[in-house]
Amino acid sequence: MKVTDRIAVHRAAWHTATVVETVPETPGSRRLVLDVPTWPGNDAGAHLDIRLTAPDGYQASRAYSIASAVEATRLTLVVDRLEYGEVSPFLVDELRVGDQLEVHGPLGRFFLWHPPTEGDGAQLPPVQLIGAGSGIVPLFAMAAAHAASGDMTRFRLLYSVRDPEHVFFRKELAEAAKRCPGPLEIDFIYTREAPDGWPTAPGRVTRDVLASHSIPPSEMPRIYLCGPTPFVEMVSMWLVEAGHDPAQIRAERFGGA
Ligand SMILES: Cc1cc2nc3c(=O)[nH]c(=O)nc-3n(C[C@H](O)[C@H](O)[C@H](O)COP(=O)(O)OP(=O)(O)OC[C@H]3O[C@@H](n4cnc5c(N)ncnc54)[C@H](O)[C@@H]3O)c2cc1C
Repeated sequence: MKVTDRIAVHRAAWHTATVVETVPETPGSRRLVLDVPTWPGNDAGAHLDIRLTAPDGYQASRAYSIASAVEATRLTLVVDRLEYGEVSPFLVDELRVGDQLEVHGPLGRFFLWHPPTEGDGAQLPPVQLIGAGSGIVPLFAMAAAHAASGDMTRFRLLYSVRDPEHVFFRKELAEAAKRCPGPLEIDFIYTREAPDGWPTAPGRVTRDVLASHSIPPSEMPRIYLCGPTPFVEMVSMWLVEAGHDPAQIRAERFGGA
């Protein structure tokens, strides 16, 4: 299927979503499962906009990545609560099963991954995923879609997270790595507290950590990078300086100064 056909299949529109599940994912974040009967499906990496309307008509909308990537009408999101945020505290603390939301999507053309199809050729480049914080959500969708598809492309995920308690999709990532027929290697970089016996002290991703925990430029990986803006900008600069082809780097910024 050509890219243009896929865009036509997954054309963005407004939909009414009903919350069918809301469970804590980590301290400060919540997994939301939405039932959207009119959803056209989406590729891994896509996002949607949620629009909230107050009783006085005031509206606010924010983008959220879709953790699920299938031709299904149940969508999984994970929302991290920003203490002084306008929308995320409502989604994390107030939203209840049965509530309805306006959602617009699926959105995103550049930051998408789908299993190789016949037209893609036999030899695809390896895929390096790099995420920080809630930036893991679209990358998880890609890793899970890769594992489920039986695709043999090499995948490697570098996940920067403050401590083990704040890992999103802990169980699902381990399962995806186990059942993936092709390689799916996961590197956790703990920034504040590492598990007992972890081989390295906690610390931020640095140029050296990046180089030692990612597919080298010589293998010409396609790179998907997602997280807070400063993280994405710093890591993209290091990747390019290390010799990665800028055309192979796809980045999504989640905001933040
Ligand atoms: C394509 C896309 C996909 C996204 N997917 C997700 C997702 O899956 N899960 C998720 O939790 N969020 C995701 N976000 C971020 C989300 O859209 C909101 O920005 C976030 O929930 C904050 O909204 P708010 O209304 O609570 O805060 P706001 O009222 O918008 O912002 C409050 C303050 O926090 C800063 N800020 C905003 N976002 C961040 C951030 N991520 N980190 C640090 N500071 C920030 C703002 O600059 C502002 O100063 C995504 C963003 C984009 C663009």
